[in-house]
Amino acid sequence: MMVNRIKLCPLCKKPVPEKDNPYRPFCSERCKLLDLGEWASDKYRIAGEKVDRESEEDQEKEEKK
Ligand SMILES: [Zn+2]
Repeated sequence: MMVNRIKLCPLCKKPVPEKDNPYRPFCSERCKLLDLGEWASDKYRIAGEKVDRESEEDQEKEEKK
């Protein structure tokens, strides 16, 4: 008896096609990229903690007024 082993995408919880799916364990390229993106943003936060771009931009705006 054949059993279909259906895996669920860790991101969107949809069934992941096992055949011809280069994005396993994700269901699609989108989910894979989203997962990598979360990873990268976490890494980025740790690598560059002082990101004061917003306040700098605010100051510039006020000077231009
Ligand atoms: Zn997915």
